[in-house]
Amino acid sequence: MTSLKDRYKRTIDYLRISITDRCNLRWVYCMPSDGLIPLEHKEILRYEEIIRIVRIAAEIGVRRVRITGGEPLVRRNVTHLISSLRNMEGIKDLSLTTNGILLSGLAKKLAESGLKRINISLDSLRPDRFKEITRGGDLNLVWKGIEAAEEAGLAPIKLNVVPIRGLNSDEIGDFAKLTLKYPYQIRFIEFMPFGTEGLWSPERFISVEEIKSIVESVGTITPVNVKRSGPAVYFRLDNAPGMIGFISPISNHFCKECNRLRLTADGKLRPCLFSETEIDLKPSLRGGAPDDEIERLIKLSIEVKPRGHNIGIRSSELWSLMKNKECSRRPMSRIGG
Ligand code: SF4
Repeated sequence: MTSLKDRYKRTIDYLRISITDRCNLRWVYCMPSDGLIPLEHKEILRYEEIIRIVRIAAEIGVRRVRITGGEPLVRRNVTHLISSLRNMEGIKDLSLTTNGILLSGLAKKLAESGLKRINISLDSLRPDRFKEITRGGDLNLVWKGIEAAEEAGLAPIKLNVVPIRGLNSDEIGDFAKLTLKYPYQIRFIEFMPFGTEGLWSPERFISVEEIKSIVESVGTITPVNVKRSGPAVYFRLDNAPGMIGFISPISNHFCKECNRLRLTADGKLRPCLFSETEIDLKPSLRGGAPDDEIERLIKLSIEVKPRGHNIGIRSSELWSLMKNKECSRRPMSRIGG
């Protein structure tokens, strides 16, 4: 079977696809308070273009696809895309990340279209706070969405939480306790310095080590071996049906095992989250280029994939990174979380 290796001998088999830059929430950490001017409709890749890219990528070694946004469920006919990708030769795993707001009405259709599992971003369990940090979101809708996903048989259900000191860090224990009641995977992800100049600071950053010590105050946790866990390291509280995952992109980054490429909603392949390098596929896609040319561009984006980032957790390094604006100038909503 074909596989794609980069110059650091990493196998690149995972494509994260942002299908829209639009979102029905305005998270404080991924969008400025006055929102963003959405990309023009014509700038956004059509489903047929995305499907073509995935087909060509699968022919040369991509095996896993995740649909992201913005918020992917705000794009019309997302189920059409799912059903087109579900049986594509070579693709072994298809997943989607959502904020859950529209999920209750779509979970069943997504499952029927062939989606097997889902990740939901959720940063507070308190309705008032959720409303504040999403600038207006209704937590109740997200819970309905999670229930609908469970009923539709999407599994595992992963809830992604970004603990931010002074914002939601006092809820780490409450999130961990959810696993005592539900079979969900609660995944704590370190806060990354993206598009959040007003919010991000080293003081707000909480390392996985610290998050884990807070979780341990809830109860004893035991490591769990999870197949295809990606960068997450999993644990379980005693007798819990659910699991707790820790993801440390900053304090203990996983660049050595990085297997991913990102495709932005406007058709740019982005080899690394922390690099501004992008390979624009759209001119070739729309200029009548043959598959060989698209394949060449995908391979090029793998050739230029950097070794990774060198951010440590020392405050000075993080501040200098922010000042020098080495971190991404594209907000997360435009890259795909
Ligand atoms: S920083 Fe770049 S190389 Fe490292 S894990 Fe993220 S995308 Fe991969």
